Amino acid sequence: MMLKENKGLVFDIQSYSVHDGPGCRTLVFLSGCPLRCQWCANPEGWEYRRRPMLRMSKCVHLSQGCTRCLRACPFEAISRYSDGTGIMINWTICASCETMECTEACLHEALVVCGKWISESELMRILNRDRNFWGARGGVTFSGGEPFLQRDFILAVLKKCKEAYIHTAVETTAYTDRDFLLQAMKYIDFAFIDIKHMDPERHKEKTGVTNEIILANIVALVTSHWPGRLVIRMPVIEGFNDSEDNIIATADFMKKVGLKEINLLPFHRLGESKWRQLGMDYPYSEKEGIPEEVLGPLQDIFLERDILCYVGHDTPF
Ligand code: SF4
Ligand code: SF4
Repeated sequence: MMLKENKGLVFDIQSYSVHDGPGCRTLVFLSGCPLRCQWCANPEGWEYRRRPMLRMSKCVHLSQGCTRCLRACPFEAISRYSDGTGIMINWTICASCETMECTEACLHEALVVCGKWISESELMRILNRDRNFWGARGGVTFSGGEPFLQRDFILAVLKKCKEAYIHTAVETTAYTDRDFLLQAMKYIDFAFIDIKHMDPERHKEKTGVTNEIILANIVALVTSHWPGRLVIRMPVIEGFNDSEDNIIATADFMKKVGLKEINLLPFHRLGESKWRQLGMDYPYSEKEGIPEEVLGPLQDIFLERDILCYVGHDTPF
């Protein structure tokens, strides 16, 4: 008798990553996130559902007169701009669309679906294929979205990874149920957890949630004597979390809890085009990226407290 398998919703799988854990790794991006960070580089992973994305740079409506998606949509959610500058989508209608027939009609990959259902065994097949390229130290990193949102799926896959002696890493917000977090972490060797701001209200202003659950979960993980390696990550956003006060508060929290490593990630605008492709306004379109050199004084605050502080992709694995 075949046992019923969990399926997970995954919006990307990338092989050969070298920045998200030790060695060469396969990154698995799971859909669904409880946070709404305004600088998010992967907004296509926010929702726990499949959704359409429109890449206008690939659309041939203007150059070739294509109207295939307009004709395919059963809900008339796609129309032409009256000034003839292209096509537009009524994203509110699309939010409840299950079929996404428009994406099948598009022959130019301008309209695509974000998110694919994948079974545990399909994912394990991909990981077992990729493991030939990982070398001795590599493995799989689960990211997202928030990888712990799809609990049954991630737990089942993590158990299978451990049965197959695969090194496992996770990039998590830690905004999740504590018991589940501690249960899942038993199958994880390496973790990046974000601290985005130490002030609960400022945290909520830019991410949609306060930080109490996150900080308490970090403390719970450390005091659980989890044997893996934890590196805190902080996306550094000018004018939001880069004040000396906030950096000192973060460093003092880490020192008190016994956390030894942090990775500062300077703000970049790499996700901007995806916001547009999902029909959303990008709040940071006017903000420039931060050069890594500017983070030196912030880095010093951690180093003065004997906390190792890496900038950008400098985390040693
Ligand atoms: S996602 Fe659905 S509702 Fe939206 S344009 Fe495509 S077919 Fe129409
Ligand atoms: S089907 Fe694709 S290429 Fe044609 S108009 Fe629609 S999005 Fe553009």
